[in-house]
Amino acid sequence: MKKITLLGSTGSIGTQTLEVLDCLEGYEVLALAAGKNIQLLARQIEKYRPERVNVERQEDVKFIKSKFPKVDVLWGLEGLVELCSDTRNDIILVATSGKIGLKPTICAIEKKIDIALANKETLIMAGDIVMKKARENNVRILPVDSEHSAILQCLGDKNNDPYRLIITASGGPFLYKTRDEMGHSNALDALKHPRWHMGRKITIDSATLMNKGLEVIEAHHLFNMDYDDIKVVIHPQSLVHSFVEFIDGSMLAQVGFPSMHIPIQYALTYPERKKGIKTDGFSLFGQQMSFDRPDFKKFPCLKMAYDAGRAGGSAPVVLNAANEVAVNNFLEGKINFLDIEKTVEKALSAHSVISNPSLDEIFEIDIETRKKYGA
Ligand code: NDP
Repeated sequence: MKKITLLGSTGSIGTQTLEVLDCLEGYEVLALAAGKNIQLLARQIEKYRPERVNVERQEDVKFIKSKFPKVDVLWGLEGLVELCSDTRNDIILVATSGKIGLKPTICAIEKKIDIALANKETLIMAGDIVMKKARENNVRILPVDSEHSAILQCLGDKNNDPYRLIITASGGPFLYKTRDEMGHSNALDALKHPRWHMGRKITIDSATLMNKGLEVIEAHHLFNMDYDDIKVVIHPQSLVHSFVEFIDGSMLAQVGFPSMHIPIQYALTYPERKKGIKTDGFSLFGQQMSFDRPDFKKFPCLKMAYDAGRAGGSAPVVLNAANEVAVNNFLEGKINFLDIEKTVEKALSAHSVISNPSLDEIFEIDIETRKKYGA
C-alpha cells in the first residue's frame, strides 16, 4: 500500500483527490489536513480513517478529538509540517490554497518524500529553492495542474528535451467581453467559469488570465524552460490541456475532457497509468477546437506574470501577494475587477527586485506586499 497525506482535503482539488482514491487500489490515506471546514473533515475521517489530521485553528482540535479519540489531531502550520515530516509517506499531495503549503512542502522534500503539487504559490514564491532542494534530495515534484500534467505526459518517461511548451488557456469567462464590460463585472460574473469548476481564488485568476501567467512561471520551474520558450494559446474548448513541441518540429498534445481527476490520478500513479476514475466517456465526435493568440493588452496580468517571471528573484513573490490581496478585495466587493491588475502593476513597479531571496526574505516580502496593497 502506498501511503499518502493530503493537504487541503476539504477544497476543490482535495475532494476530487479523495474521489480519485475511491477508485484506485493500493493507496492508503495516512493523514488529512483541512482548513476551517471541520464538518466535512469529520465526514472524511469517518470514511478514510486517517491516523492523523490537521486543522487550521486550535479551537477545532477539541471537536475532532471528541468525535475521533483515536485520531492524532494537530493544528496550524506546525501541524502541517509535522504531517509532512512523517517518512512513512510515499507521496504528499499539496492542495492547500495560498502560501501555507510552502514550508510543509520543503520539509517533505528534505525528508525525501515525493510531492504531487497542486498549490501554485509554492513554485511562484520559491520555485528556485523548491526545485533545487528537490534535485538535491532526488525527489519528484509531480504537477497536478492539468496543463503541467499534460506537458509531463507529452514528455513521456524518455525525457525528450522539449523545444517549446505551449500552454492552453480557456480564456475564462471574459474572453469575449470588452474591457468596459469587464470593468463593470461583479464577483458573480467573474466566478462563472465556462469550463472548469474550481476554488474562488483560482477562478478569478482565470478571469484576469493571471492564472495562466502563474502557470507559465510554474512551467519555467518544473521543466527548466526559458520564458521565451513557453507560449500561451487561447483554446476555449479546454480539450487540449497543453502541447510540447520537439526539436524536430513534431508537436505532442494531451487531449481529454476537462476534469481534474485525470491529472490528479496521473500525479499519484506516475509513471504508470491506471484505469481509475472516469477514464472512459470522452468522445472526439462533434468536438470543435480552435487556437488563438492571447490578447496581452486586454489581459495585462498575463504580461505582468511573464515580466515578473523573467525578472525572477522576489518579483513573482510580489506579483503573487499583490494579486491575492486584490482578488480577495474584489471578491468582497471592495474594488472593481480592473483594479486587480492596477494593484499588481503598482506593487511591481514600486518593488526593487532582490535576486536569490532566502525563504525568510520571501516571507517578509510577501507579508509587506499584502500589508501595503491589501487594505
Ligand atoms: P480551495 O479554496 O477549494 O481549497 C483550498 C484548501 O486549502 C481547503 O481544503 C482549505 O480548507 C485549505 N486551506 C486554506 N487555507 C488553509 C490554511 N491556512 N491552513 C490549512 N488549510 C488551509 O482551492 P482549490 O482546491 O481550488 O485550489 C488549491 C490549490 O490548487 C491552489 O493553489 C490552486 O491554485 C491549485 N489548483 C487548483 C485547481 C482547481 O481546479 N481547483 C487546478 C490547478 C491548481 P477549508 O476549506 O477547510 O478552510
